[in-house]
Amino acid sequence: MEAREIEVLIVGGGFSTMPLIRELEASGIGWLMVSPMTPIWQQLEAADALDFDLVSSLQSSVYSFELVEMLKEQGDNFTDGFPTAREFYDIHKKYAARHAANIHHGRVDSIDNHADHSIVHLDSGEQFRARHVVVATAFRRLMNANLKQIRVDASFAGKSVAITSTGDSSNLLIAKLVAHGAKVHLVTNGFIILDKMFATFSPLDDGPRFVPLDQLECHNFSEISKWSYRAFIDGGYIHGLIHHRFAKLFDRDSLGVRHPKSIRPHKDIRSFFRAKAPVENGHIAIKYWPIDVYKLHCEETLEQKIRDGYLINDLPFFLEHGHVKLWDKTDATIDHEAMTISEGGETASFDLIIDGDQEVPNIPDIRMQGDGGIFAYRPREQFLGVTSPQLDNIYTIGFTRPFTGGLNNISEMQCLLVHRMISDPAFRADIRDNIDQRIAGYNATYYASRPEKKTDHLVWYGTFTDEVAKVLGIRPKRGDTPGFMGLMKYYMFPNNVFRFREKGRYAVEGIDGLIAHTAKQYHDYKVLALLVIRYPFFELLALGTILLAPVPWWIKIPLAIIHNRLPFTSTLVGKFGLPTRESKAIFNYRKAISFPVLAYPVVAAVVWAAAGMGAAFGFSAALLAYVYAMIHWGTAKGWNRKFFCDMKSKRSPEMVGFFEKYRQIFARAQSITQRSDPPD
Ligand SMILES: Cc1cc2nc3c(=O)[nH]c(=O)nc-3n(C[C@H](O)[C@H](O)[C@H](O)COP(=O)(O)OP(=O)(O)OC[C@H]3O[C@@H](n4cnc5c(N)ncnc54)[C@H](O)[C@@H]3O)c2cc1C
Repeated sequence: MEAREIEVLIVGGGFSTMPLIRELEASGIGWLMVSPMTPIWQQLEAADALDFDLVSSLQSSVYSFELVEMLKEQGDNFTDGFPTAREFYDIHKKYAARHAANIHHGRVDSIDNHADHSIVHLDSGEQFRARHVVVATAFRRLMNANLKQIRVDASFAGKSVAITSTGDSSNLLIAKLVAHGAKVHLVTNGFIILDKMFATFSPLDDGPRFVPLDQLECHNFSEISKWSYRAFIDGGYIHGLIHHRFAKLFDRDSLGVRHPKSIRPHKDIRSFFRAKAPVENGHIAIKYWPIDVYKLHCEETLEQKIRDGYLINDLPFFLEHGHVKLWDKTDATIDHEAMTISEGGETASFDLIIDGDQEVPNIPDIRMQGDGGIFAYRPREQFLGVTSPQLDNIYTIGFTRPFTGGLNNISEMQCLLVHRMISDPAFRADIRDNIDQRIAGYNATYYASRPEKKTDHLVWYGTFTDEVAKVLGIRPKRGDTPGFMGLMKYYMFPNNVFRFREKGRYAVEGIDGLIAHTAKQYHDYKVLALLVIRYPFFELLALGTILLAPVPWWIKIPLAIIHNRLPFTSTLVGKFGLPTRESKAIFNYRKAISFPVLAYPVVAAVVWAAAGMGAAFGFSAALLAYVYAMIHWGTAKGWNRKFFCDMKSKRSPEMVGFFEKYRQIFARAQSITQRSDPPD
């Protein structure tokens, strides 16, 4: 059979490649997509399992040009948040329908790569000869099959289910199981788990202001100080980085102290802040709705929200109340026949076991030139996840994923990079000329010196988008955003793709409006700026007190080092975290702590100049003691909430009562949905 010729052949039709198609069309480059068009979302829809919301925010999950469209349609009502799976898939369907004429239904079996073209073989026996091939076939994963096949319903009430993998997808299953009254045995080697939505209060607003986690990452702030950025991102410490004995002393309410099996082994997490980059690649984070924020966000229209797919997936809450029990993966023994798990003399039986596995790129066989053999995708051998020194004119998209934020932030930037490599031969030659050095440079920055692991493809999204923008020459510079607002925009806005598409080669019309609207919605990220500024002042107070102490200098230095090594301040500031509710009293209480600390450097200097070092030490020590006492007092009263996994709020009778109400409404919503299901 003669091969059909095409300029660009896209293998796989999913969400990831639509921005590439947009650019190819704009440049008049011929393209064809070959795909059976069975993305995971289509499969979930067919299994009636599109009943959840995304773990990443709208602004990080949807194409920049689509966000502009949404803003045009919805005007001032356009807000960030978490799209439902159905809304997300609807966007994909819209674009797939728009480009239907260029989609050839079929499955690619293998690809032969040659110096200036590739031959693409389909299962059907058809062949294509393409100048450029883009592979975007997503990942293969057992957990995806579980989501399709396991229908969690009321029959699970009172049952026990063992789950052997921990991630966002298994957490979705856990949310449904617990809501139906099942008990979950989670066999794990620990996890990083983060609140996916925050509620902040300000006397200037009516009610809470909601901000998704991934929009609070202010990536460029790391340019000012990597240390401060890490301390801020730590948000009171990344679960597991702090030693649990220390945590026991300072924060008995932390998840790790209350549920030690949730702590990820130190060897897996210690490199989190050890790379040259602010945050190392290769970590997994689960993102969940903390029950208190869920209550604020969903309670008013709870039944509808549940029907839309917004579920409580607060794993720390479930652990605290015994709905989920943790088993240590390295020590537990699972007897599949007897359906039991045992560990340390304890045994539990289960009615069903759900296994998971790691993500593996679902790439068809690519035969490399000459006798090169079959291409194997390895994140550390691929430049920015899209181009390999081993392949000519074959690109990959969608195999780099964020550990917070949406995949689209990554894949849209990858699409722009691939488009430029396809459409600009000089640019392509430039990249290919020193691709090995480029890859080595990237690896040296983004991986601490540790062996490869299966999660190496997971990246901190805002530094990834930034790296691609630099290569493409579309990264706004500090000088491009003058004035105070420009300063805020540069340092406080997260690196969503649309930030790089306001001006330059890949500008999208209307992005300036989207940025202005976002700035308005988030009040120019002023709350974030306050949090960022507050932290170093707390540090200064603690260090100032040590340095002014009436002890010899050789004691001060180790004390300062110990202070720096142990996250005293971040634990403290983490506890101060966020106000729990709207209240003038709470607002004033927080001002009474923050303002003296912000004024500390000036006041301490004045006291020192006027009354000497002893007086300055007295002032510092008194202020430090006051701050500690106030923060602990506010925490005891329930006015402060830790940024992540606030276990105190999870035990409050208010939340326990709300969960009971949620379960009742969940059961009602489910029975209505099931009754309205069409018969098979
Ligand atoms: C339960 C779940 C929740 C998720 N939540 C989020 C979230 O909150 N935020 C987020 O950003 N991402 C999330 N993702 C991940 C990701 O965003 C989506 O899966 C996304 O749609 C991936 O897009 P893609 O284009 O890479 O792959 P897909 O959309 O899966 O498309 C791959 C396409 O390739 C085709 N294909 C496969 N093999 C071949 C072949 N050999 N030849 C030709 N075609 C082939 C398939 O038929 C399919 O059409 C989630 C995923 C799952 C499963």
